[in-house]
Amino acid sequence: MNAAAPALEGDPRLIRLSDDVYVFGTYPYSGLVVTDEGCVAIDGPMSPGRAAIWKEFIETKGALRFQIYCEHHSDHAVSAPILQPEVLITSETTAAGLDSDEAAREAMRTWGYYPDSDPAFIDAFEMARPTMTYRGRMNFALGGKRFTLFEAPGHTMGSTIVHAVDDRVAFIADTGTTPAIQSGNPISWLTTIALLETLDVDWYVQGHSDPLKREDLHYWRTKLLAALDQARVDHAEGVTPQQVAERGGVLSVAELLHVPFVGREDMPPRLREAAGRELQEWSVDRMYEALRAHPTDAPGAALGPVLREIV
Ligand SMILES: [Zn+2]
Repeated sequence: MNAAAPALEGDPRLIRLSDDVYVFGTYPYSGLVVTDEGCVAIDGPMSPGRAAIWKEFIETKGALRFQIYCEHHSDHAVSAPILQPEVLITSETTAAGLDSDEAAREAMRTWGYYPDSDPAFIDAFEMARPTMTYRGRMNFALGGKRFTLFEAPGHTMGSTIVHAVDDRVAFIADTGTTPAIQSGNPISWLTTIALLETLDVDWYVQGHSDPLKREDLHYWRTKLLAALDQARVDHAEGVTPQQVAERGGVLSVAELLHVPFVGREDMPPRLREAAGRELQEWSVDRMYEALRAHPTDAPGAALGPVLREIV
């Protein structure tokens, strides 16, 4: 008998950004940074089967020292029981928003259902809770490499960006291209993206499509800004969230995801029907809410100054 092929060998969903940085282009896109002292995983697959394959791959690179959940949405936050990191990190805001065990099971049975999942696994599923949380920003070093995590409100109010400083990659999860604004604030999102554009990185790894270059991220910001402009017009004219949803939502999914991407086939089959109207109506609510306040009321990602020298 032939020995089994190493996990993900020759699989087009495995994106190698450098010798030490890998992305599994599944749902959601899952990141990995390898160091001499072990690995750092960013998010992880929602599908238990794909998470098991990802774990196998990670094990070929070293021990999984840290895993970071970038947001509380179920698709980003159910893989740790399978990947089993030594330390699971989120922002305090994300930790507070994570699913209950039953809510996670429900997500895995409904919109996030994969036909190859074992129902018994889902019935017995229990969430992994973060063992380390932070507010604002946190830094750590592993294997001589620097990692800076920071809160980046926008797609969700507790979203985390993982800046792998020495690997020149920012893992931005759904702060990247997605039409889902239901949990966030579009003005925070826009200012967060502007901050991300200033990072000295080669790649932005996002949650639901292939990694972005800076010009792609900039383009996404202009689309989001145009959506906010449209919402301002709609708000002034009294267009209801239902009417916007009927029209196709605050951002067109078809337009955003028209470029082919390696993870398309890995989206849960029932996602489309579940992620339709209602989520778009909630997204309009978030847009209108933000427009009723002054933009300076929207939380931002930038922290205040740290005194480098006392003068
Ligand atoms: Zn999300």
